[in-house]
Amino acid sequence: MTRYRDFHRRSIDNPEAFWREEARRIHWHTPFGTVLDRSKPPFARWFVGGRTNLCHNAVDRHLAERAQQNALVYVSTETGIERHYTYAELYGEINRMAAVMRSLGVKRGDVVLIYLPMIPEALFAMLACARLGAIHSVVFGGFAAPNLAARIDDAKPALIVTADAGARAGKVVDYTPLVDEALSRAKHKTPHVLLIDRQLAPARLTAPYLVAYEPLREQFFDVHIPCEWLESNEPSYVLYTSGTTGKPKGVQRDVGGYAVALAASMEYIFEGKPGDTMFTASDVGWVVGHSYIVYAPLIAGLTTVMYEGTPIRPDGGIWWRLVEQHKINLMFTAPTALRVLKKQDPALMKAADLSSLRTLFLAGEPLDQPTAEWITNALNKPVIDNYWQTETGWPMLAIPRGIEALPTKLGSPGVPSVGYSLTVRDELTGEPCAAGEKGVLTLDYPLPPGCMSTVWGDDKRFVSTYWSSVPNQQVYSTFDWGVQDEDGYVTILGRTDDVINVAGHRLGTREIEEALSSHAAVAEVAVVGVTDPVKGQVAMAFVVLRGAQADGDPSERARLATELATTVDRHLGSIARPARVVMVSMLPKTRSGKLLRRAIAALAEGREPGDLPTIEDPAALQQVREALGDGAKK
Ligand code: ATP
Ligand code: MG
Repeated sequence: MTRYRDFHRRSIDNPEAFWREEARRIHWHTPFGTVLDRSKPPFARWFVGGRTNLCHNAVDRHLAERAQQNALVYVSTETGIERHYTYAELYGEINRMAAVMRSLGVKRGDVVLIYLPMIPEALFAMLACARLGAIHSVVFGGFAAPNLAARIDDAKPALIVTADAGARAGKVVDYTPLVDEALSRAKHKTPHVLLIDRQLAPARLTAPYLVAYEPLREQFFDVHIPCEWLESNEPSYVLYTSGTTGKPKGVQRDVGGYAVALAASMEYIFEGKPGDTMFTASDVGWVVGHSYIVYAPLIAGLTTVMYEGTPIRPDGGIWWRLVEQHKINLMFTAPTALRVLKKQDPALMKAADLSSLRTLFLAGEPLDQPTAEWITNALNKPVIDNYWQTETGWPMLAIPRGIEALPTKLGSPGVPSVGYSLTVRDELTGEPCAAGEKGVLTLDYPLPPGCMSTVWGDDKRFVSTYWSSVPNQQVYSTFDWGVQDEDGYVTILGRTDDVINVAGHRLGTREIEEALSSHAAVAEVAVVGVTDPVKGQVAMAFVVLRGAQADGDPSERARLATELATTVDRHLGSIARPARVVMVSMLPKTRSGKLLRRAIAALAEGREPGDLPTIEDPAALQQVREALGDGAKK
């Protein structure tokens, strides 16, 4: 561990020296003066005075050496379209998009809200904004009108870029009516909406503000738009968090620090080299999409694969066939997708030649042990769980294979990444916990480059939300709860508001979930704390059973419920035993695949969960309601 330890220590003891060196990875139009401005904690400004541009670093800079290399491979199993763009072609498309935006009045410092499905134009639009010095705010395509309206009012865009429609599992989702409704709900008046017409749905071009992209693109076909050289700390984008725990926060990111951090992460964590191909199966609407579909692979000179579709259409082998066809070296997705793939016919995976694949990365939610074991054995390649947040922009915890190929430990995403001074702290005293002791994961000031600079338009909220929750310390709270072992490996035990207190014992719901998912009958599980007059709180488990068991008769289910509760006894002791095990066929999740535990807890306590703008399928709530009712009748 010495090489990693040494690297990490240098990055913490002398961040200025460490990041000055890392900053060479990108092009600076004007060199920076001060590496780190610490004059206004908890704010940190990186590479002060340096001027650079994200689009230049992602695209222009590669033209000399890799103009003919693919920059973007686009595959849609929804429309059957596959397109390849070399770096030279990508350069052309971004310039056209930038010219169109400029013709609509977009200038440096303006916000452009991007509400698009997974089509190449989403990536063009993001990079066109970067080129112009405009600030993009990508909103997950298909979010309902009220969510979109709330983001319009918060971001106040000068332009919205949208499409006629998205497509999901074969169903067309009309976007223009959603945009129409959002615009009429929003207080902010957006002057123009640019429409990418995929010809999937009748494009509603009647509204006066709607402008069609294609004719303008033709008009600007051969245009070159110079990059705006931005000061390193000017905003590059605003991205709202998933909203798992409440009102989404507008995370603001800088320019120079983000570029440097992503470039460093590509070597130290992802081991991506120029010419490699990376497939990040996420969405440009999430931070993983921003960092590892768009910016990092391009900054590092890779080919990025952008995919529209589900992992199981036309069949559960589609992703593995993509690996074979496009000689994908690095793949990145969320555990939720793997749990879906695990249920598929194993022959589909075996049929594909996966020899190009070096590493699979997983992030976004806890990687449960059965899924981790399954995929590690099935692939026989390193599977790297990594832990981070929209706020941090790149992994906080991982196995830094590019520094040292430390062993993985099941259940842990690994050790702190360079630049992250991570401490597990006691929630009540703020003091550091000893190895093996549970606490809140916190980061010391300053956050490394690439992390959020502030909450969009609300510096006070940045300080009061993130830097004021740990007693006696001004440290950044992740609001996640975890434990670090003697070797520095951290295990995530859930979110701080998922910690439950049973008769004075503090338990992470994640621990109970892990115990339950070790049982062969369990496909998915959510554990929540429910108020109890005697014990304060008790755990309640909501379990989705695997195929055959799910159809079992009521007495068989009752037997299984008891057996599951006993499983928890065995792993964690009877204090953690769920007061009730409720069988459901589906759990409420956000569109990014995260469990909505607060909503489940509300239902379990007989309350209504309130507004859930980011929920994937509201039918799941009804399921939970009914399952709870069934139990009451028994
Ligand atoms: P909000 O902050 O609005 O409630 P959110 O926290 O779900 O939304 P994200 O920034 O997308 O929004 O998610 C980050 C969170 O996801 C982390 O704080 C953590 O709880 C969880 N997470 C991410 N990666 C992992 C991982 N590898 N293991 C365990 N949990 C993870
Ligand atoms: Mg969060």
